[in-house]
Amino acid sequence: MKGPVNEFAFFLRGQARKNLKLLVIYCLFLFVLIMVYAAFFTVLMDHFEGHQYSFITGVYWTIVTMSTLGYGDYVFTTDTGHLFSAVVTFSGVIFMLILLPFGMISLFLAPWIEQRLRYRPKVLLSEDYSDHVIIFGYDSITRALIRKLVSHHTPYVIVTTSQDEAILLEEEGLHVVVGRPTSITFLKNIQVAKARHVISNLSDPLNTNVCLTIRSFCETPIATMVDEPERTELLRLAGANRAIPLKRILGSYLASRATTLGATAHILDAFGKLLIAEMPVKSTPFVGKTLAEAKIRQQTGLAVIGLWERGTFTIPEAGSVLSPLALMVLAGTREQLHALEEIAGEKDTTDLVMVLGHGRIGCSAARYLERRSIPFVIIDRTNNLDCMDHITVIGDATSRNLLLESGIEDAKGLIVTTNDDSTNIFLTLASRRQRPHMRIVARSNQEENVEQLYAAGADFVISNASVGANILNNVLEGKETIFLTEGIDVFRASLPPSLVGLSIIESQIRPKTGCSIVALELPGSTDPIVSPPPETVLEEGMGLILIGSQENEEDFARKFRNGP
Ligand code: ADP
Ligand code: ZN
Repeated sequence: MKGPVNEFAFFLRGQARKNLKLLVIYCLFLFVLIMVYAAFFTVLMDHFEGHQYSFITGVYWTIVTMSTLGYGDYVFTTDTGHLFSAVVTFSGVIFMLILLPFGMISLFLAPWIEQRLRYRPKVLLSEDYSDHVIIFGYDSITRALIRKLVSHHTPYVIVTTSQDEAILLEEEGLHVVVGRPTSITFLKNIQVAKARHVISNLSDPLNTNVCLTIRSFCETPIATMVDEPERTELLRLAGANRAIPLKRILGSYLASRATTLGATAHILDAFGKLLIAEMPVKSTPFVGKTLAEAKIRQQTGLAVIGLWERGTFTIPEAGSVLSPLALMVLAGTREQLHALEEIAGEKDTTDLVMVLGHGRIGCSAARYLERRSIPFVIIDRTNNLDCMDHITVIGDATSRNLLLESGIEDAKGLIVTTNDDSTNIFLTLASRRQRPHMRIVARSNQEENVEQLYAAGADFVISNASVGANILNNVLEGKETIFLTEGIDVFRASLPPSLVGLSIIESQIRPKTGCSIVALELPGSTDPIVSPPPETVLEEGMGLILIGSQENEEDFARKFRNGP
């Protein structure tokens, strides 16, 4: 569908648009001419031939005559009539049969064909090109990444092998070069050696080939996506600096959010000993209390650095109420998380989780559950030939009976992970209606469907594109960052020299930048101080771990890092 629409768009731009106006004017002229002839027809017929015909008949006769069809059902028999017929026929030949097609061809068809023939895609970048990001493979992930790059004014270029794709992308205003990513000459021509980073987002074998080819002549850092997690090592061997098993990461994200197990089951990531974990409020005695009343920090030492509720992330304050639907984002050490598990009571081991869709992401979610001995049922239309480990219930997950037979009535969690967003939205909506209290997490293949999935009742939605783009962006910026949600990261920073000797409250980090301190890292110790009290004095050599949005982080860099 996109093709024809794009071609049509050609006629709405530049010279073609002006020509289109000309065409409209010409058609108006033809219309007026036909009306005038039709009027003459009725008058002449009445005066010279003695026939009364309607105006519509006049229009019909004019068109039939001008187009030289000449059916002969209405004819003049007088000389005046014949003369008039001749004029109409002659002007028809000139205006309708010669000028109109000639105009169409010379004003529209020829420029369009010429543009197609003249289009010479870029196949190289000039010598002075440097510090750019080269992207192999354009999809929803790299599209989301490019949006970030553009907003940071980072130069980038997309590499495609297809001239048609290049035309489409250029029409969208993107930078494209056409060439084979495994040709050394081409790679040299697009200044790979001087690039800031290469992102290879192709199939595993192609990514391997790209890495080997680039490594044969330069050391530019390469990040690649890996479809099959087992191939991560292989890609590293081929020369990738980072190989990102995105589908496995997505699977674990989904699975960790679908269960109500203890806190340590939900560790998202770590900065040394400082772990970031998520835990549903529902499984704790804090339901309905405010953060101040819950006294989580006093009891366990953990900091609650975020609250998720139906897709919205907030940085909590003392008065924030812990609703049973919310998910707490916690920062602390493993011991502190264990302490929370003690308070939260027995683990709920009867959790049954349904996994709908056994592709790579579904399979990775199943592995996550398996490792934590959480029982699960996995449903797919077809057998996953790459997986010998999971017994799949074969059938269409949209079938209500199949879901009932597979035990959805007993499930506490549901992971919706088919490759079709409409199916995912349907499954989420149907399950939510049936089971209002089940934890439903869903995967969104296209970023634009995140909202619909939340509207359908998902507790948590994970967008392939945004997770992928965020991971890549963090790699590009060389940041040690934990991605929490679109726009909010936990990140590490060294203590700005201008703040040494001040207390946290005197440092004014929060009022000036919006970032909050999650933890302090002491120079000689591996144990971070989690959620330090405001009167803590910042000492030389300390590391800061902060939470904030992208803008907060930029403010921090601007106001403190570049300071005296
Ligand atoms: P990924 O590897 O990204 O997880 P796949 O395309 O391999 O993506 O996996 C999606 C899986 O979802 C496929 O195995 C497909 O058979 C399954 N699937 C799609 N629609 C349905 C459905 N209506 N019912 C059951 N399974 C489905
Ligand atoms: Zn599997």
